Amino acid sequence: MNNKTFLIGNWKMNHGIAATTEYCQQLAELSTGLKKTELKIAPPFLSIASATSVAKESQLQIGVQNVHWAENGAYTGEISCGMALEAGATFALIGHSERRQYFGENDHDVLRRTRAAMETDLLPVVCIGETLEEREAGKTDTVLRTQLEGLFTYLSSDEAPSKPLILAYEPVWAIGTGKVPTLEDITDTHRGIIEYWKSFNSTAPCPPILYGGSVSPDNFGEISKIEEVAGALVGGASLVYEKFSKLAEIAEG
Ligand code: PEP
Repeated sequence: MNNKTFLIGNWKMNHGIAATTEYCQQLAELSTGLKKTELKIAPPFLSIASATSVAKESQLQIGVQNVHWAENGAYTGEISCGMALEAGATFALIGHSERRQYFGENDHDVLRRTRAAMETDLLPVVCIGETLEEREAGKTDTVLRTQLEGLFTYLSSDEAPSKPLILAYEPVWAIGTGKVPTLEDITDTHRGIIEYWKSFNSTAPCPPILYGGSVSPDNFGEISKIEEVAGALVGGASLVYEKFSKLAEIAEG
């Protein structure tokens, strides 16, 4: 694993304002003792303000689960990057498979959201991953390359500001199912993404790639040892302090 390990909790539609405030107090305390782990959580929009106010003096970073590309306007149900920043968010999850699956987001939307985040100061965490059907048809690499093509073209162009971005490889079939790819599969897939990046940009390093999909204290020890894995995007196990703090302990090494 790289020197810096990212541990990002995606709370999805869990934890309202009161639960967020209480849980963030524990996480804020935990974060102050971390040396090499960047601890981040993405609560629901309504809980962002309370999370950022609790996390203010700590190393805990708060992000949003989605962000629109426009600055404002008639986009019911969306929020802009400026609004997220004003509320104290530092990063945005973009293109999570649940957004793609249930809300019809496509690669073009993902690119627009990513560009908007990069043009402000929100760190994009861009999610990619194949479905079980695509995997069983041997299409994993093709699917990932299709999801990444526009993004990598943009990132390696003069248009892109030189700002950080994080990728999260999350096989759709592993999310919330308790199923995890083998360590060899994770390694190969991450290597494949890095190879693909090199075909766009042979000088700059590939953005850090997190693994996501049923990460738990039982499997993260091994996954985190994979050199090409820069950390984890965690759903279920990020909702419970005992599990998430254990993941942070593992990430610290
Ligand atoms: C996720 O939602 O990004 C995720 C990885 O969920 P889980 O850890 O529950 O599989």
